[in-house]
Amino acid sequence: MTDLTPARTRVAPSPTGDPHVGTAFMALFDKAWAAKTGGSFVLRIEDTDQNRLVEGSEQQIHDTLEWLGLGPDEGPGKGGDFGPYRQSERLDAYRPFVEQLIADGHAYYCWCSSERLTALRKEQDQSKAAKTGYDRLCLGKTREERAKLPGFTDTPVVRMLVPDDAPLTFTDIIRGQVRAPFPDDQVILKADGFPTYHLAVVVDDHLMGITTVVRGEEWISSTPKHLLLYRWLGFPEPQYAHMPLLRNTDKSKISKRRNPAARLMWFREQGYLPEAVRNFLQLLGYPPADDDSEVATFAEFVEHFSWDKVNTTGPVFDVKKLDWLNGHYIRSLGAGELTERIIAFHRERGDWDESIDADVLRQAVPLVSERMTLLGDALPKLGFLFADQVEIEDAARASLPENAAEVLDAGIEVLETVPFDAGSIQAALRARLVDGLGIKPKFAFGPLRVALTGGKVSPPLFESMEILGRDATLARLRSLRETL
Ligand code: GLU
Repeated sequence: MTDLTPARTRVAPSPTGDPHVGTAFMALFDKAWAAKTGGSFVLRIEDTDQNRLVEGSEQQIHDTLEWLGLGPDEGPGKGGDFGPYRQSERLDAYRPFVEQLIADGHAYYCWCSSERLTALRKEQDQSKAAKTGYDRLCLGKTREERAKLPGFTDTPVVRMLVPDDAPLTFTDIIRGQVRAPFPDDQVILKADGFPTYHLAVVVDDHLMGITTVVRGEEWISSTPKHLLLYRWLGFPEPQYAHMPLLRNTDKSKISKRRNPAARLMWFREQGYLPEAVRNFLQLLGYPPADDDSEVATFAEFVEHFSWDKVNTTGPVFDVKKLDWLNGHYIRSLGAGELTERIIAFHRERGDWDESIDADVLRQAVPLVSERMTLLGDALPKLGFLFADQVEIEDAARASLPENAAEVLDAGIEVLETVPFDAGSIQAALRARLVDGLGIKPKFAFGPLRVALTGGKVSPPLFESMEILGRDATLARLRSLRETL
């Protein structure tokens, strides 16, 4: 049975580059669970690894989550009762716990130099030692005692003293009973005075009242260390939900190096709608009950949300499915909204042409939305509407039938007087060219299309003429006619 006491969930990305799609995947499940239980979803920035910080990364995390509709209830810049929400601003919070662990004999100082640790690891690798990890040279020694031995450094770290009975199994709300390997004497406080992830995550999840820890499956092997810290510090344990890693179509782990779609910004740059990306992430979480429920709002996802449905075998990142969803969401927007999104997309990409009339674009967008996959697909198909004149493509010119001049002349005559709406234009041209001159529709309208758009393929012809208007339409027909 599902426990519906209000959950506090969190996503805890490190601002080390532009955000990974996995961050949004976790955020979706965090937010859904918080919504389902009437709880809250927290964004915490895990910036304790000062060497890996990338300027602007935190802002991108914030922006992309908001863009996807997955913004947190609490977080940096958002406020909340459990701040600050950046670990670098919480350094004072960790110290007392480190001291407590040392005083209780659960943690100890280690003065081993990185050279010594590297040599130790190498030796263990070469001798294929049964027991690997730190050899506890510093355990039980004072600084003075340790300083007399080789491989000493002045600035110590603090390590956990992992006992033989460390808890290796735990319950995961997605996976059931999970077993993890025996941990090493993990460093919890670094030489620079910053906590490591392992200490900070436990202290912060506790102090922030997190009830459900949703994170990637790569953290399963760290969970025993975290459980020890919970035990030692007397904190109640949270629930764990270890999400599957997203995979490329060849089943390899999705990484920014190998797959551009691992970058969350990529979706926005490509012209995907946030609704489609969010829906896609829902589908990656678990398969829908049936094909008809593949398209689902966040509210619907929340309504049917259940941890035991989550895929544990890495869901495959199939961009074709995303393309399909994007087309669907594009078509579900009204012309006004779709036009605004198209304009915003091009502005952001830096290639919006300010001379384009947004009203004209709004009229034209319905002509191409059926054939759009991405936001950037509209303008190339509609460019002819905004050009002063069109250039006739070679292939289009070559496709003109022998009687093209006759067709154009007749077309011009009709268009000079017909009421200029698509229905009247179509009826009048058909009457004159197909019924009157006996030309097959394909040959009758082809030359008009080439004249109007410069190409052989275009959005619906008569609607395009209506949008372009009588004068511009006639000018284009005459211009091609003159060259024949
Ligand atoms: N900072 C960790 C990461 O970026 C968070 C892991 C967790 O959610 O506990 O993966």
